[in-house]
Amino acid sequence: MPETIEDILRLKQEKNAVILSHNYQRDEVQDIADFIGDSLELSRTAAGLDCDVIVFCGVHFMAESASILSPDKTVLLPELDAGCPMADMIQVSSPRTVWKTFPGYEVQPTFVFPHEFTLRDIKAKYPGVPVVAYVNTTADVKAESDICCTSANVVKVMESLPDERVICIPDRNLSMWAQKNTKKQVIAWDGFCHVHDRVTKDDILKARKEHPNAVLMAHPECRPEVLDLADHVTSTSGMLRFAKASDAREFIVGTELGLMRRLKKENPDKVFHPLRRDMICPNMKKTTLNSVLKALKEMKNIIKVPEEIRVPAKRALDRMLEIK
Ligand code: SF4
Repeated sequence: MPETIEDILRLKQEKNAVILSHNYQRDEVQDIADFIGDSLELSRTAAGLDCDVIVFCGVHFMAESASILSPDKTVLLPELDAGCPMADMIQVSSPRTVWKTFPGYEVQPTFVFPHEFTLRDIKAKYPGVPVVAYVNTTADVKAESDICCTSANVVKVMESLPDERVICIPDRNLSMWAQKNTKKQVIAWDGFCHVHDRVTKDDILKARKEHPNAVLMAHPECRPEVLDLADHVTSTSGMLRFAKASDAREFIVGTELGLMRRLKKENPDKVFHPLRRDMICPNMKKTTLNSVLKALKEMKNIIKVPEEIRVPAKRALDRMLEIK
């Protein structure tokens, strides 16, 4: 066993730590994790575990969610600058531009979200309209929202509210997809995930031509015209369940490439093709075995959400978790 892995396992035991890996992490990081899943699955798992330290291999808002749900545990984020550009597209009260380009990536995102507006501005414009916050938001944005949602339950969450209108933040594609599936009027924020938003109709047509017998799964963070052409629209955990249960032998996968690892491992007799080969989140790939080791050794990069934010943010998460 390589030395780095041995050291990680030893430190993990010494510190009574649990390593969580998001589905989009590098293969070698997924391999040393105790649990692999989507952000909410992981935070919920961690909250129920008897451990002192959580090493969250993911991006910043995910470690925050773990801290919100496990305030007594030490949450470490191996790479402190692993952020989520979409989560950073909305701020509570002071707009800021955090991120612009991706050196080395062929496709660059187009920024159209309104930097000059904040969540409080939108709430003031639509007084009394509840805010549904995707879990891909920062802790302070959650704290300012009425209820959270995931890509799997967004419609259910909206339907649970008595109001006719809802504000949905920050992903415009998820909001548009929810709008198609609910009678509520959805007021959408203009944020997006650059990994999913880059997929075009032409990519679908090309993939279908190359793999005519494959079932095409797409994440709701993809554009509406892409989702219209997919066979199955679902979250990452939904893709894992769907691929396992389906009689189909071949799939086209419309999400970040990290999920391919689990899809292939859990379905060795099935074939998976990426919808595009550049569906890679650079932030998700920042975490390496060395950064996990360093975080554990030095107990650094602690993510701790202050109580005045944690309590209302937890309320928004709990309200979602109560929905069956
Ligand atoms: S894949 Fe998209 S939503 Fe997920 S962390 Fe990366 S940018 Fe954010």
